[in-house]
Amino acid sequence: MTVGTAVTTDAQAWLAAPVSSVEGVTGRAATTLERALGIVAVRDLLEHYPHQGRYRDIGEQVALADAPLGEPVTIVGTIGRWNVIRPRGRRLTIAKAQVVDDGGGRVEASFFNQEWRARQTPAGTRVAVSGTLERFRSALQVRNPKLVVLEEGEAPDETDRIQPTYPATEALPSARIARYATAALQGLGFLPDYLPIELRRRHGLLDLDTALRRIHRPAGLDEVGAARDRLVYDELLSLQVGLQQRRHRLESEAVGLAQPPLAGGLAERFLAGLPFPPTGAQSRAFDGIGADLAAAKPMHRLLQGDVGSGKTLVAAWTMLCALDHGHQAVLMAPTEVLAEQHLRTFTALLAPLGVNAPAGPRLELLTGSTALRRRRGLLAELAVGDVGLLIGTHAVLEDVVAFDALGVVVVDEQHRFGVEHRTRLRDKRTDDRSPDVLVMTATPIPRSLALTLYGDLDVTVLDELPPGRQQVVTRVLPSASPRRARLYDFVRERVAAGERVYVVCPLVSESEALDVAAAEDVHRRLADEVFADLGVALVHGRLSGVQRDAAMEAFRSGAAQVLVATTVIEVGVDVPEATVMIIEDADRFGISQLHQLRGRVGRGTARSYCVLFSSAASDDEGDSPRLAAVAATTDGFRLAETDLELRGEGSLFDTRQSGLPDLKLAKLVRDFPWVVRSREDARELVASDPDLAGHPLLAAEVRRRYGDERLAALETG
Ligand code: ADP
Ligand code: MG
Repeated sequence: MTVGTAVTTDAQAWLAAPVSSVEGVTGRAATTLERALGIVAVRDLLEHYPHQGRYRDIGEQVALADAPLGEPVTIVGTIGRWNVIRPRGRRLTIAKAQVVDDGGGRVEASFFNQEWRARQTPAGTRVAVSGTLERFRSALQVRNPKLVVLEEGEAPDETDRIQPTYPATEALPSARIARYATAALQGLGFLPDYLPIELRRRHGLLDLDTALRRIHRPAGLDEVGAARDRLVYDELLSLQVGLQQRRHRLESEAVGLAQPPLAGGLAERFLAGLPFPPTGAQSRAFDGIGADLAAAKPMHRLLQGDVGSGKTLVAAWTMLCALDHGHQAVLMAPTEVLAEQHLRTFTALLAPLGVNAPAGPRLELLTGSTALRRRRGLLAELAVGDVGLLIGTHAVLEDVVAFDALGVVVVDEQHRFGVEHRTRLRDKRTDDRSPDVLVMTATPIPRSLALTLYGDLDVTVLDELPPGRQQVVTRVLPSASPRRARLYDFVRERVAAGERVYVVCPLVSESEALDVAAAEDVHRRLADEVFADLGVALVHGRLSGVQRDAAMEAFRSGAAQVLVATTVIEVGVDVPEATVMIIEDADRFGISQLHQLRGRVGRGTARSYCVLFSSAASDDEGDSPRLAAVAATTDGFRLAETDLELRGEGSLFDTRQSGLPDLKLAKLVRDFPWVVRSREDARELVASDPDLAGHPLLAAEVRRRYGDERLAALETG
């Protein structure tokens, strides 16, 4: 095995050098660069890219007499005089330079709060002034001027024409960063390309050296796009290669089970017995999963589907496929409440197949609350295979839990589940084979992000809701809207029609105690005043399990028709009669959370409604782009994309940002085509040459960006 030889070139050494090696960067400047922007090495400086779309063309050099108005130009001449003006009553100075061009024409350039310019470039200094030429009253002016001092006889540098704008701070203005970047590029010898030439050709990409130079110093605005494409591709490719290599390392020896769907088996009878046909998306999922199950390679598939898209059915079918081969299957839920709910659902779904009938297959629950004595018995039954289907929490991963023949694991995922967990599942079998794993997620993740974060998983998307689903009509109202009273009348009407209503209380703060207090307040007001004639129940996270069950049961049965809740109802609650959801202070919720909450209504066949009260909104919905987005569509994937665009990468995993890939240029939504291409390329590369022995430069680059530890953090969050 060849491990990529250490590759150090002069260029690499320069990139690794401290930023103070760059000409013009003093020790003090280096400290500022590090403090303000985290720039330590030359590489950091060169990876501090200009803002996209904010390059300025400062224009062609022209004589003032020929200069076109309204266009960017550069005028060469001498400073005639400075005028410093202090407008009365304003904390502002305007330093106005008069530049006399070589043909004798005069043009003014104004600088705000920059009196020092008059001292730095006094009258008589030879300069090039660039900007958009305008006529104001009788004088010619340069708008947004940029002043460059010229040596006697020097002409402006044509390569200076396009000015990048860098993310900057007060202490480190963009122009200074531009100067440093230019000097860093000058110090950089030719930067060898690590990208295999086939890939460059395949996508028509620039070579690395050219791309890096052009993104900082384009000769024309049209050069920026191609430079960016190349660097975006690099970021995504190295991430994907890293993920694929990691998967390969940990799993290349993994042997799975061939357990194809069997004609006449339980799985097939299960589908035949359903009162409805599978949706097209579900059928596609059965095909994809079926092929994975049949293959001897272990399945690692992500099943994504919006709330109500029918993931549970797919999970049940997959587990039954294992049972048909005499194997066991387990479903892991993130919480006990959800595990219990899954047990209820599965019990009902599978009863027609004889599950839990005498002599039928057994379905059991194992959580942290399972009584010790019951638990001991259950563990014994699992170990000998008497229990075929298990539902539980992460507790099922514990060492003491042993199976006779574990075939399928379904993870109903709120938190991520990485390669490490999957390798641990292998220990659940005595023969070192790996069960097939299906990870389900109800949080719609934009495909772009899924492919990036779950780079090592195959992805199936249930992108189609079962027919007959009602769109949830969604409106944004200001909190103080006079229409609130009308809404309460409407609630009464719906309740009279046998329907139910959720009122979700604001997320006041990080403090659960305060949230609970707010919910208790709203409950009191609704129960005592507004809906004194109705049953109003309350659930929040501080209630005991028994109290909470009682409240939920009252709501489910209709004894209470209005349920006031904190976000505890976000996941898992299923009451088909619920048709109205009112969310107070909706501004405090994120898009995906609002979407999850709204998914609690519209589960039956009656038309459903969601009202988002906003303290920010005036009467138009434009005030909060997030609320407007939620009101505009019920498509969870579109909302997730919007969320990603509004809040940026990482928004969907707020608390896990530490593990996110370090993407400096790539924007997953906008650069989606590159996400897809880089993923395909990475798969191909790693499949044919897992250690990248044929591409040592690329191997070194991937290792540099994504060592194994980073990838592990990325995967399991
Ligand atoms: P998810 O788990 O994705 O939120 P579920 O599997 O709970 O969705 O399905 C939501 C509801 O839709 C359930 O009541 C289920 O019985 C029903 N359902 C699932 N698939 C279909 C289908 N193909 N046609 C009609 N109803 C379906
Ligand atoms: Mg298999």
